[in-house]
Amino acid sequence: MEEKVRVRFAPSPTGPLHVGNARTALFNFLFARQTGGVFILRLEDTDRERSTPEAEKAILEDLRWLGLDWDEGPGHSGPFGPYRQSERLEIYRRCARELREKGLAYPCYCTPGELEEKRKRFLARGIPPMYDGRCRHLNPEEEQSLIQSGRPASLRFRVDARSVEFEDRVRGRMSFDGRKIGDFVILRSDGIAPYNFAVVIDDARMEVTHVIRGEDHLANTARQLLLYRALGLEPPRFAHVSMILGPDRTPLSKRHGATAVSHFREAGYLPEGLVNYLALLGWSSADGKEIFSLRELIQSFSLERLSRSPAVFDGEKLNWVNRAHLKALQGEQGLDRARPFLHNSGVKLEGIQKSWLAAALEAVWGEVDTLSQLADRLKFLFDEGWDLESEAEALLAREESRKVIRGLQEELRLVEEVKLENYRQILSGVAQRAGISGRGLYLPLRAALTGRTHGPELEKVFVLLGKEKILKRADSVLRGNGSERSASRE
Ligand code: GLU
Repeated sequence: MEEKVRVRFAPSPTGPLHVGNARTALFNFLFARQTGGVFILRLEDTDRERSTPEAEKAILEDLRWLGLDWDEGPGHSGPFGPYRQSERLEIYRRCARELREKGLAYPCYCTPGELEEKRKRFLARGIPPMYDGRCRHLNPEEEQSLIQSGRPASLRFRVDARSVEFEDRVRGRMSFDGRKIGDFVILRSDGIAPYNFAVVIDDARMEVTHVIRGEDHLANTARQLLLYRALGLEPPRFAHVSMILGPDRTPLSKRHGATAVSHFREAGYLPEGLVNYLALLGWSSADGKEIFSLRELIQSFSLERLSRSPAVFDGEKLNWVNRAHLKALQGEQGLDRARPFLHNSGVKLEGIQKSWLAAALEAVWGEVDTLSQLADRLKFLFDEGWDLESEAEALLAREESRKVIRGLQEELRLVEEVKLENYRQILSGVAQRAGISGRGLYLPLRAALTGRTHGPELEKVFVLLGKEKILKRADSVLRGNGSERSASRE
């Protein structure tokens, strides 16, 4: 019988979900969905000081927003729960005791101060620090006196392996020198199991078949494999994904700007755009295609095409990918996505006709990278948002331009309303009156109507503004100057 794929995403709820972790979640999700497997969400919250319910809530929210829904985990109880490590402490303690009974773990009485001393000594000699094994060799009297002195004990795993080897699905054959690993803690004196132990127990008990995670965990994998061996458990297969770097080729971090998924959400990226971009960080399709829906990613993804080389986070490319997804949104869909962003930016949506708003969005849609840029692009359509940029103002001060605007006033007075159907006719009327055509005609019109020298197609601007607004603007341009207008608005 073919084995059913079971993968997991195991964030520590100590802060917001970062794009690197979101990418790990995505790769696990894609692999599960593609193989008809199970995607587990497990919260590694044993660090009680740093884990918070708020961070957990935010991570779940971000995953949902990205569309990475899980089959087992918080809110989806499965047969392998609980899915929060803080609710599994007794399981870890039991397993740690088991290792002790088998003689594979021993109590360690070294104090944090002593351990720090040892660490410093190693570092001073230029050697990567590891536990020196002091408590491994205690005789019964020594141990007795340490207990009597009231020292709390942790449990340390006895590392006797000379080497640890495994086949990584991305990196190929990996080999670690067991002698450099050192006996490590599997149960702290406060009864908490550290990451390397808890993760093995959980992955084994949750019957995880593939562990897909960042390559910063490679050295942990060596330790974890030793534990699988000691516990007599079959290890999962491993795929370690390359790191994400910033433009300066150092690991992506806050120094490079915002990295939290929530930031990209608030900045108006589409979840499908962000997901698509994250997939391209360390993975590529065989045919070079770059724009994918989540469904297409599920079809195309493969562990074999994960890259060993680090990926560089490129905000420009993210914008490009997001634009492609924005373009794919049709009418109503775009409107629904845009609405909250317009509202948050103070665009008054009450009383605005839906068809007008849809047409307005359509006019500027192609110009924006994100939904949050829409409000700024649309603001010229509202009287309170109309203002002449200095370039537009300079242009409109020229006599040639004023002729065009006067021509516009006269032409508009002859029509009842401005529609797509009579736009050409109005324009040629203005051209005739002013004796100007081409750019000399379009530029001043655009400048007067939008306050800018670039923007959406002029015919759309005409129709969206309508006769009254255009006349008001023409009037204002001919009468005043920029500062007067600004003053009168205050
Ligand atoms: N809680 C660990 C982390 O956030 C999980 C690592 C793993 O996937 O094993 O890095």
